[in-house]
Amino acid sequence: MRLYEYEAKEVFRKFSIPVPVGFLATYPVEAREAASRIGRPVVLKAQILAGGRGKLGGIRSAKDSEDAEKVASILLSENIKGFEVKKILVEEKLDIAREVYLGLTIDTSYGSCVVMASSEGGVEIEDVAKETPVKIASMHVNPLSELRGYEARKLIKQIGLNGRELVGVGEILCKLHAVFKACDAELAEINPLIITEDNRLVAADAKLNIDDHSLYRQHEVDPFRPDRFESTLDIEGKRRGLNYVDLDGSVAVLGNGAGLTMALIDMIKLAGLQPACFLDTGGGASRERIRNAFELLMLKADSDPRMSSVLFNINLQITSAEEAAQGIADVFGTKNTRMLVAGVIHGTEAEKAVDLLRNTGIKLCTDAREAIEIIRQHSGQSSGGQSVGDSG
Ligand code: GDP
Ligand code: MN
Repeated sequence: MRLYEYEAKEVFRKFSIPVPVGFLATYPVEAREAASRIGRPVVLKAQILAGGRGKLGGIRSAKDSEDAEKVASILLSENIKGFEVKKILVEEKLDIAREVYLGLTIDTSYGSCVVMASSEGGVEIEDVAKETPVKIASMHVNPLSELRGYEARKLIKQIGLNGRELVGVGEILCKLHAVFKACDAELAEINPLIITEDNRLVAADAKLNIDDHSLYRQHEVDPFRPDRFESTLDIEGKRRGLNYVDLDGSVAVLGNGAGLTMALIDMIKLAGLQPACFLDTGGGASRERIRNAFELLMLKADSDPRMSSVLFNINLQITSAEEAAQGIADVFGTKNTRMLVAGVIHGTEAEKAVDLLRNTGIKLCTDAREAIEIIRQHSGQSSGGQSVGDSG
């Protein structure tokens, strides 16, 4: 999960990596206040989850607070790389003497963390790697230890820094490594690290990507923040521990396993229908998990008038089908729905599952094709449903 620049800078601050004085703004007037608090020329930086903002007009400067308000109102109405700019970071404008690149990532082929530094800061490191690879110095770090000061300095020396700068940048690199480890990061980058005219070292940009599998123990970052997802249903899916992707068709698709669910989506499309969502319940099909999944689909049905049916396929090897059916009955036994619900449950004690769902109005089928045919006929009849061609 990628953090916003301002979030990454909050983390940097905790690890005493120097960052510019700055404030977050959602409205132009806040940018004005921020600039007047800073009391010097500022840069306004679009907070979007994409890099290369500099080249795309996402980084602008303003000479005073009045100017900052104007620039902010332009920036906040923009769309950069498909991202609406909803927040901007207003920071003191630094006078650049030199820009350096520092980065850490995981070298999977080597099985350890790799530290990189370059004298060519401020440009995309991929471009440096392509055009002048000699300008990137790198080394692996023992995954069981800290990055030592002398190791960091040895690397920084290779990019041509000496004296106080060498020591200072080396220290920052060690702190960046500490951030990388503490945050279970996949990538930590300062590009550029600015050496100012008055010899300060400041991380002007910050990039921090956290391994999704570690979010459970990264309590300080909140993966459920609404602005990380497109819809509230996506958030709800995450909260329930389900793999949910919101789509805009009419048939909600649920399967237990990503491969199975993808296959159902293909079948739906081949039948000339469009999926309303992808919902993979993931491992295990306990009553609770299945109930959770169908509840989510009912939330989707309540909020999206385009959705008219549910296709499910629950294929169990060991777990009892009856248990999964109980989860479904928990939802449909108590709630009337305008949805047509059709699908398949396979597994041990499937007969009991069929019995359980007999009076719920759910169309239980012997295979997915049959269920899709029922859905196809239904959507052909229902007004507003798309007309289905005679393709198979
Ligand atoms: P990115 O393009 O998304 O990586 O955004 P950055 O935060 O790296 O900003 C792009 C470029 O804007 C940097 O490489 C700098 O050259 C410039 N920049 C960023 N902050 C400042 C600043 O405080 N002062 C000056 N003069 N330039 C800055
Ligand atoms: Mn940058």
